[in-house]
Amino acid sequence: EHIANQIAAGEVVERPSSVVKELVENSVDAGSTVIDVTIEEGGLAFIRVSDNGSGIGKEDCETAFERHATSKIASGKDLFQIRTLGFRGEALPSIAAVSKVELISSAASSGLGRRIVIEGGKRLISEDAAASKGTEFTVRELFFNTPARLKYMKTIQTELGHISDFMYRLALAHPGISFSLKHNGSLLIQTLGNGDVLQVIAAIYGKAAAKAMLPVEAESLDYQLKGYISSPELTRSNRNGITTLVNGRYIKNYGIVNAMLRAYHTLLPINRYPLAVLDLQMHPTLVDVNVHPAKLEVRFSKDAELSEFLEQTLARTLKGKVLIPGAG
Ligand code: ADP
Ligand code: MG
Repeated sequence: EHIANQIAAGEVVERPSSVVKELVENSVDAGSTVIDVTIEEGGLAFIRVSDNGSGIGKEDCETAFERHATSKIASGKDLFQIRTLGFRGEALPSIAAVSKVELISSAASSGLGRRIVIEGGKRLISEDAAASKGTEFTVRELFFNTPARLKYMKTIQTELGHISDFMYRLALAHPGISFSLKHNGSLLIQTLGNGDVLQVIAAIYGKAAAKAMLPVEAESLDYQLKGYISSPELTRSNRNGITTLVNGRYIKNYGIVNAMLRAYHTLLPINRYPLAVLDLQMHPTLVDVNVHPAKLEVRFSKDAELSEFLEQTLARTLKGKVLIPGAG
């Protein structure tokens, strides 16, 4: 069991951002409206995720760290038919196997909850504790007992980059949740959770960026598209500012990005890229997520039709905007 958890940890916990991802997605699944993340040294020294979600009941705190102890029912084969982000029950035991974990959680508003301390998979403490409703997870000294893994970690800036990228995407996908991210004492992101995507864009990319965004809205028989794309005066030198969501979930797909760029590059030199947040709604049978679940890559069953819908919609959105000399 111990060894199995360490092996599973190698797959689930690749680096600090994997821990942040698993913990924060659990917080989202728990219906939280406020999720605060505090990290130190790129997450290698310290990661704390606290939320105001459903909390974990006393008995479930004990079992949450056992493998496949998920409370989320996974009946559908397709990830998009599962409403929660997690469903395999592998994250917590994997994280606990390679770090020092402290969990404080309460499922009630009584002020009473449970505190569990686990180091390298070994349970050291399990006791009643004062706790407000919700969950606080602290992960210290990640990979302290797997030095080989620790050696592969990149610089603090690189690890922090992975974490903030993930947080940006999740915040953009969930404008109704208030997220914060603090690194070594400084606040990097703070969203309000008021449901306004433009506010999230402002929090991440700045107020000027939010001002330069054009609303995108269109509907076809199969697809509904909503979101924002930056007007041509606001461009970036890379694609990192392009966020695509399918049914509210962050995904990667080259077809979508390429269709967007075809519309955009009739106006702009080809080495500039928009800032964009696009949310596509479609029937779950039109998207296959099983191409590479870990990498978030998806395949669409009507690829060409979708590309055309996107390109036309975006071309319409951008029509009449400034034409930059040398474009096309
Ligand atoms: P999964 O997310 O795949 O179900 P995890 O190992 O990530 O598995 O979590 C195990 C279980 O612990 C979850 O199913 C959930 O019941 C509980 N849990 C974990 N984190 C939280 C949280 N922040 N709030 C409420 N419950 C949580
Ligand atoms: Mg999970």
